[in-house]
Parts: sequence; C-alpha cells; structure tokens
Amino acid sequence: FSSEELTRHFVDRIEARDDRYNAFITPTPERALEQARAADRRIAEGNAGLLTGLPLAHKDIFCTRGVKTSCGSKMLDNFVSPYDATVVEKLAEAGMVTLGKTNMDEFAMGSSNETSYYGPVKNPWDESKVPGGSSGGSAAAVAARLAPAATGTDTGGSIRQPAALTGLTGFKPTYGRVSRYGMIAFASSLDQAGTLTISAEDAALMTQAMAGFDERDSTSAQESVPDYLAALGQDIKGLKIGVPPEFFDEGLDADTRKAVDDALDVYRQLGAEIREVHLPHLDLSVPTYYVVAPAECSSNLSRFDGVRFGYRCENPKDLLDLYERSRGEGFGAEVKRRVMTGTYVLSAGYYDAYYLQAQKTRKLIRDDFLKAFEEVDVLMGPTTPTPAFGIGEKTDDPITMYLNDIYTIAVNLAGLPAVSVPAGLVGGLPVGLQIIGNFFDEGRLLNVAHQFQ
Ligand code: GLN
Repeated sequence: FSSEELTRHFVDRIEARDDRYNAFITPTPERALEQARAADRRIAEGNAGLLTGLPLAHKDIFCTRGVKTSCGSKMLDNFVSPYDATVVEKLAEAGMVTLGKTNMDEFAMGSSNETSYYGPVKNPWDESKVPGGSSGGSAAAVAARLAPAATGTDTGGSIRQPAALTGLTGFKPTYGRVSRYGMIAFASSLDQAGTLTISAEDAALMTQAMAGFDERDSTSAQESVPDYLAALGQDIKGLKIGVPPEFFDEGLDADTRKAVDDALDVYRQLGAEIREVHLPHLDLSVPTYYVVAPAECSSNLSRFDGVRFGYRCENPKDLLDLYERSRGEGFGAEVKRRVMTGTYVLSAGYYDAYYLQAQKTRKLIRDDFLKAFEEVDVLMGPTTPTPAFGIGEKTDDPITMYLNDIYTIAVNLAGLPAVSVPAGLVGGLPVGLQIIGNFFDEGRLLNVAHQFQ
C-alpha cells in the first residue's frame, strides 16, 4: 500500500478516536496527506529511505513551521512557528509524514500530563489513569495506535516514564546526541530529544535519522553517528549487567519489582552476567534536579514576556503591568512554582546554599555512574516505582508527583542514554524495565533492549 493509504488510516483513526484520549493538540491531516503523496512520488522515483512515507507524531515542544507550537501552554496558544526544529527537519528529510502535534505537560513540567493547558491525556490502557508525562500525548497516541511512532523529550524522565506507563519503548539518547535547536527549552543542560515507539528497532531507525552534530545547538556533540540498525541482533552472551540495589528501595511496588526481576531472568537466560553495583548518591537526584531544573527554567522562560510573541494581556497600563499580567495569565500553576523556585535558588543570598550545592551533588551522581561503567556494560532497574496512577490522584501534592521520577532523573543529571522497555503487566497496566548505557553507547543499549523483545 501507498504512504497515502497508510497515512489516511492514521488520520481517520485520530479523527474517530482522539476525543477519548486527548493525545493531540493539533492534528494536521491535510498536511500529512500532502507529505504522504510527496513520499509516494519519492518512492516511485527510487529515492526513498527506510523511513520514507511512514507517519509519526511530534510532541508539541518541537517548532514546526506554519503549525501552532504551543508547548502545552496558554502562553504559546497563538504561536505559529516560523521555522522547523532540527528534529522535525531531519525526520521530514528522511521522508516521514507528520500526523500532528501531541499534548504534553505545560513546558514539559510534569509527570502525568495534567499540567497541560489543553487538559489531561487519558491512558489508553485505562482511561481513568494518567499516561505519564511530560510526553504523555505522544505516548497515548502510539499506545492507542493513532500514530505508529512519536517524538518526545526527556529532561528528567519524560520519555521513559510515559513509555513505561503505556507499554512502549521510550528511548532517550546521550545528552548532545540529538540537536536541541527548535526544541522549546525547559532545562537546557538536561533536555534531550528521543522517541516513543513500539519496538527498539523503530527507535534505532528514527534515532539514526535524528542524531548528529548541529552547529545551531552549541551543546550538540561532535561524535560521529554509528549504524544503529547494524548494532541490533548481536549476541549478548557475556554482557555485564549491573543492578544497583538503590533502584529497589521501599517505594518500589512489589509487583513492579517482580516484573523487573523476571526481566533480569530473561537476560540471564540469554547469557548475560548480572552483578550488584552501587550508586551511593542516587537518593540525592530528586532534590538536586529540583534545584537545577527550576534554576534553568526560570532563565529560559524569561523570554515569554508578552512583547515579541506568545500571549499578551489586554490593555496593559505600562511595561511592568504588561510583563506581570502576560506572565501571570499565560503560565499555569506548576510553571509558576518552578520559575519562583528557580529564581529563589539563583538569588544572591541563596546561590551558594542551593544552586552551587546542587552542581556539586550533580557531579557526585555522575561520578557514581562512571565508576559503575568501569565494571559493567549496562545498568538495569525499574523505570517507575508503580504502574500508572489515577488522574487527579497526585495533583494536590507536588512532592509525591516529583517522586514518581525517582529512577529516571539521575540519568539526565549525568547526561547518559537510557531506554525503557515494556516489562509486563501489573494489575492489567504496563510497567517498564529501564536500561541505562554509557555515554554514546546507544547502539549497544538499543541492541540490549531489542534482545528482550
Ligand atoms: N517530571 C519531571 C519534571 O516535572 C521531568 C519532566 C521532563 O522530563 N520533561 O520536571
């Protein structure tokens, strides 16, 4: 069948079913069909790659030329991007067809998709549950097969956590592997683009197209990009897997633990060697993150001032009133909480006590991982402490919400690549196995994930 037929299938499915899930903020059906016809012409000309003509959805954090790019916020509800993010551009060059822009937590701040200006997303496995966040719209879209694959971003777990809670493969590459150009910034030293897919193979294919140096992103890595697909299918006999007991703390639900233990048994049967390694500073990762990420976000979000683009309040009295009311009316509660926390920890009197201290603990966390990778090839543990929780269950208590990311956040502080793969069902809901790799070891990581599938 043609790309046009395939695209039509997904366009119709979104139209028929997304009322239930709220996975899309902006579906782009006409544009998708146009891109599909262009892909069909490319295929007919013999000028196609493996991804040409395949549809996908983009998280609404990626600037998309001529399309509303809201970042899940009222602040950008009227923003039509004048340019494409590098990720959008590269996947379009590979011939992929964009079905639309997916729902997300406001400015990617959240773990449940409940902070979106466009309303919560429902988990297709159980519509009373959250899909995870912040890439919850992308996760729900793929889990409900409204799209075969989607992009996401991961600052503290926002690809891996929703992938785990919706039964998908969520892959976050090494920091710097994929360009951040045109990806609306939350915390620039942590943000990384990646994929939510049905398999590790799909993740490998898409990452191949997305990765690589980009001079428009000053932290983009100069490393060459290996052949990820060729890395799949390699024997993992003798692979050294480290299992940190710190991932198996008292917060971990017993059935989720059992699913992870069963997954480790599969790897044992495949000939891997499992040993205990320690990450002694892991318990510092959530407090460290909630200083570093808000600090960077308070700086990044200062550009939304009601002047050049985005939301502007009505009839401002003067410039200060314009700033205050545009930001006060344009941002939601969680974003305001982060901006205020960030401004506080960066202020002159508190900088040493909080921000500087957090930078030091961040280094300790990174060094723990580097030490572990002297002994083992990959690390494994659960992606989340529990399966998906109920919509509204944690909204009144930010700390409980923040603790949902306890196993994913350290990876971002260190800048490492990691993947969550479906590990089984707990009470009918999916949970994930998290696999963490060494810097730029994405090929091995994807192969280890692939062997389990
Ligand atoms: N849940 C975390 C937060 O709220 C991580 C979000 C993310 O990775 N974008 O900040």
